[in-house]
Amino acid sequence: MNNKVQITFPDGTVKKYGQGICPREIIDDIGSRALSEKAVIAKVNSDSVDLNHHIMHDADLQIITYDAPEGLHSYWHSTSHIMAHAVKALFSEAQFGVGPAIESGFYYDIDIDSRITPEILEQIEKKMQEIIDADRPFVRREYSRSQAVDVFTKEHDKYKLELLQDMQDEVASTYSEGDFVDLCRGPHIPSTGKIKNFKLLSIAGAYWRGNEKNKMLQRIYGISFPKKKQLEDYLNVLEEAKKRDHRKLGKELELFLMTPKVGGGLPLWLPKGTIVREELEAFLKEEQRKRGYLPVVTPHIGSLELYKTSGHYPYYKDSQFEPIKADEQEYLLKPMNCPHHFQIYASKPRSYRELPVRLAEFGTVYRYEQSGELNGLTRVRSFTVDDSHMFVRPDQLKAELCEVIELIKLVFETLGFKDFKTQMSFRDPANKEKYGGSDEQWQLAQSDIQEAADSLGLNYDIVEGEAAFYGPKLDFMIRDVLGREWQLGTVQVDYVMPERFALEYIGSDDQKHRPVVIHRAPFGSIERFVAILIEHFAGAFPVWLAPVQVTILPISDEYLSYANKINERLRTARVRVEVDERNEKIGYKIRGAENQKVPYMLIVGKKEVESGKVSVRKHRKGDLGQSTVDDFLKTIAEEIETKSLN
Ligand SMILES: [Zn+2]
Ligand SMILES: [Zn+2]
Repeated sequence: MNNKVQITFPDGTVKKYGQGICPREIIDDIGSRALSEKAVIAKVNSDSVDLNHHIMHDADLQIITYDAPEGLHSYWHSTSHIMAHAVKALFSEAQFGVGPAIESGFYYDIDIDSRITPEILEQIEKKMQEIIDADRPFVRREYSRSQAVDVFTKEHDKYKLELLQDMQDEVASTYSEGDFVDLCRGPHIPSTGKIKNFKLLSIAGAYWRGNEKNKMLQRIYGISFPKKKQLEDYLNVLEEAKKRDHRKLGKELELFLMTPKVGGGLPLWLPKGTIVREELEAFLKEEQRKRGYLPVVTPHIGSLELYKTSGHYPYYKDSQFEPIKADEQEYLLKPMNCPHHFQIYASKPRSYRELPVRLAEFGTVYRYEQSGELNGLTRVRSFTVDDSHMFVRPDQLKAELCEVIELIKLVFETLGFKDFKTQMSFRDPANKEKYGGSDEQWQLAQSDIQEAADSLGLNYDIVEGEAAFYGPKLDFMIRDVLGREWQLGTVQVDYVMPERFALEYIGSDDQKHRPVVIHRAPFGSIERFVAILIEHFAGAFPVWLAPVQVTILPISDEYLSYANKINERLRTARVRVEVDERNEKIGYKIRGAENQKVPYMLIVGKKEVESGKVSVRKHRKGDLGQSTVDDFLKTIAEEIETKSLN
């Protein structure tokens, strides 16, 4: 008896095959050489499986190629197995932590006695190439948990044994290519020969399971691609990204400082960085003022009770600092500004006529991040949110969302991020009980967000199940000059907090009603946003943001008094200007200003003093010729005023 299974393809066509058929054979049957070349894994119904997985029941089948993000991830993760295999071949005592694919590439955490040097990385790469050339198939085996424990006891791998101990499933799977066996859920590419181009990139220390109390393992990062050009492009971007690294530029341009004397993840903003930050704040505050936002200021701590009401404590306890005790009361360093703003809203009766109430604050918040997770300004323990909470009537929600989205668009466009996309996170319709608010409220909010986005021509994806428990949200992702994606601003609709904090307004019917709250932050975190700007502009900020906008360079001390006179004029006109008074050659001074990425240099010597002019030089553009101080002032003032990006 030969049972048949019915396979449904993504385009809706249906075909019957013998029970136990695998995706690999189906690809052969379809006869597409391109698909066969690119296929990495498959999806049977919604489960990701190997290409030689036996299909036992009727199913929807989707072949995943390495052109799809999920396929590429599996490609990367498979490369991490090959890397671990190579390490084991070179260091037989090696034990392994975890080896996942990450946003780009993969890593593996390794416990060996030798310190992994760049020379050792090369040896590992060589070994990997041998494994790839041998084109060994990835073989999946399934075990009961106790059998799997036997396997990894034999392998002497205490980390895998620990992982097995914590596993919930009764069945454990392993993958092996040749003589290397790894504990893994899979799926994997069919064989090692699929990996065409790879490179090991760097080595870092990483605590086992991210916990400082555990042993520090050595983490090797790597990348792989099907095509040589992809690898080359990736390495070029990486090289350029290194030059633009905000931690490096932050030091060179004296923007911010991190010191263990203050504490990890607690940035100190230096004068130049503070100017960038304050300009950004001033820009947004002015736009908010025009739109009727009301400024508020709230303290950095709040009663623990406040966060119990909001539901943040104890649910987010692990990401917050321990409470502070004073006068028999407990306080929390504020992890968010919302509860404080709610108290301001609730401090007096509100009428439907005064809504929307828009409270805004550049509020500094504190999160406990694992020390291993801290990274420059992008992962910190203290950051400032350009926070605002709008308290609106349900009938005002859509219009208010439109305004908010428009403001976020303006912020991005002003800073030159033309390429951005948005993700709409809706609730999971199959798990409604996970969320607060009524069906009606959710339907209204989701359609309001979508209609607002449509009316503004946003390009968006809808992801069901990604909403916050209190309401749907809209997240903005920008792409920087290197093509890297960053998640920035967010807009969230909230029905739950107004309920928890019993917020009200008196409607036109003289009855009490509950407002809807919109939480929004275009920059998100100022720290992170400045980090992205530093890297996006490679430290060469547009004039309106540049900490020093003009440097005056006298050719010699003789012209210092002329330089100082111009300095005075520009300063009075509120231009941020400096005179390079050092007794150095002019070429040296120009190089210094170029390195500091000052937008304009004004060179003054004999000719300039005699004609009463200045010689203008622009960063990266070079000599622009002579100009009167008035003309120069007019040019720069206009660039500042219009927030020009040139
Ligand atoms: Zn794996
Ligand atoms: Zn909020």
